[in-house]
Amino acid sequence: MGVPPQSAHLLSPQPLQIRWPLALLDSRHRHGLEVDGDGLVNLALTIRGVTVTGIEPLPGTRGPHLPLALPAAVEPHCHLDKAFTWSQVPNPSGTMAAALAANLQEHKRRSAAAVAERMNRALETAWRHGYRALRSHLDLGGRAGSQATWEAMIHTWAAWSDRLQLQAVALAPLELWSTTVGVQLARRLARLGGGLGGALAHHNTRGSLWREHLAGMLRLAAEQGCMVDLHLDETCDPRSRCLEELLDLLEQEPLPVSVTVSHGCSLAQHTPEHLRRTVERLAVLHIPLISLPTTNLWLQDRSSSRHTPRLRGLAPIHELQDGGVTVAIGGDNVADPWFPGGNFDPVELWRFAVPVTHLHPWEQRGLTPFTSAPAQVLGLAWDGVLRNGCPADLILTEVSSWQAMLARPQRLRVLRNGCWLP
Ligand SMILES: [Zn+2]
Repeated sequence: MGVPPQSAHLLSPQPLQIRWPLALLDSRHRHGLEVDGDGLVNLALTIRGVTVTGIEPLPGTRGPHLPLALPAAVEPHCHLDKAFTWSQVPNPSGTMAAALAANLQEHKRRSAAAVAERMNRALETAWRHGYRALRSHLDLGGRAGSQATWEAMIHTWAAWSDRLQLQAVALAPLELWSTTVGVQLARRLARLGGGLGGALAHHNTRGSLWREHLAGMLRLAAEQGCMVDLHLDETCDPRSRCLEELLDLLEQEPLPVSVTVSHGCSLAQHTPEHLRRTVERLAVLHIPLISLPTTNLWLQDRSSSRHTPRLRGLAPIHELQDGGVTVAIGGDNVADPWFPGGNFDPVELWRFAVPVTHLHPWEQRGLTPFTSAPAQVLGLAWDGVLRNGCPADLILTEVSSWQAMLARPQRLRVLRNGCWLP
């Protein structure tokens, strides 16, 4: 599928009139604005080519009819290689153990063509829903299907490079990074700007050399210049303190590459004092945390006996933010054995996450986990804040208030590079 001819979808009419969150407007453009109770302002945007070149205030009385707009979205944590595999390897029990077993079963039949097909479907969906960049963990290294996954990724990344910024993190068994195969994989990832990953929680640390393997992975990341993004403490078990082991290692020897922590569910089970200390350490090391509400709510506090989940598995987002830690929200699994829902739709993810996390969109700290924070995690040039000279990459909803956006699903209009997507 090629890029549509730009002339067919030139922006009209100009200027573009929208409602926009004040929290995502550069302070240089804040004069003469009427701010409503939702923290929204009315703006007229002039767009030349691929760039916003003019931002003017509009009277508040125009508000009820203007569409609420947001910056094009950034997905900080997904799994493109396994998206849409639920129908092939369903997980009706919904447990983590069964999800892993189904995942490994699916590895055995992976072909590059099949993985490329679902990656392409995922990216097509994400692009049409207004994503501009995605970081995907990919099952690579030492497992059946790894070569197929690598080939599919190379092909798909090339096909989408003119439309989406894509980052790959190899989700591999931690011990792989201490082997020759792991070193070779890290070299190949470094050439792509990719990262090293893995999953570490209390239940997979017993009786193994995991501390040594974690230290080896960090050394390799530093040597090869690869960022690190780990699935850490994805459990409600309060004994899971793998993040603290990571912090110990990083405090002993700071890394010259970026480190990101994903999940952090067990943090919510620690005492307030213990949590405060961990948050402080994360803030000092400038390590962001990605919270993944959909998968966490689906998998956590689930057992084979029927019971209603009490522990929801969410990282303590507000306490992390209070302590100065950058928190981003990601979509994680989409229609795979780990979570049957999701559809690479940033507004649907927002609609799910807001009541679950109590992140209020009328406050800056409620918006940044969906906008500026994921852009920061991926190291993107644009932080999602509207200012003269920023990219003309926007998502327009059908409504004019946060309440209306929460009330029903949205049909989105997406502006990329100053043109409407068809
Ligand atoms: Zn994940």
